[in-house]
Amino acid sequence: MNKQLPLETEFSHGFTCASCGKLIPPLAFGGRHRNHCPHCLCSLHIDHKPGDRKSNCRGIMKPIGIHVQQNGEWSLIHQCKTCGTIKINRTAYDDNELLLLTIAAEPMMSLPFPAKKIISTLHRLSTENER
Ligand SMILES: [Zn+2]
Ligand SMILES: [Zn+2]
Repeated sequence: MNKQLPLETEFSHGFTCASCGKLIPPLAFGGRHRNHCPHCLCSLHIDHKPGDRKSNCRGIMKPIGIHVQQNGEWSLIHQCKTCGTIKINRTAYDDNELLLLTIAAEPMMSLPFPAKKIISTLHRLSTENER
């Protein structure tokens, strides 16, 4: 899987996703570089700092969570399957929305504490605010 390809040209002219194998065209509306696959949302560990392409790891970076910035913009939290490095990448306009939602909802599906009490408390607070 460690193909030595000129990734800086690959990422600005389109590339084949190392995880799902789909051919990814470059972003249609230009602007920032695409740094992950819009279908499976996987990325490649090729940077130390964003855009420097200096990492020799080239492991597949899987989306493990969503980070929401103060302006409401979503970012993906990626973790490298090879070395475990965690990075944050902004989402793109053509990212798989269903998969983004699934990743965002995942912690809610496996709460480490009983949800029932909290939900009834939230419900009570929201009805109190209506008065
Ligand atoms: Zn993919
Ligand atoms: Zn890595």
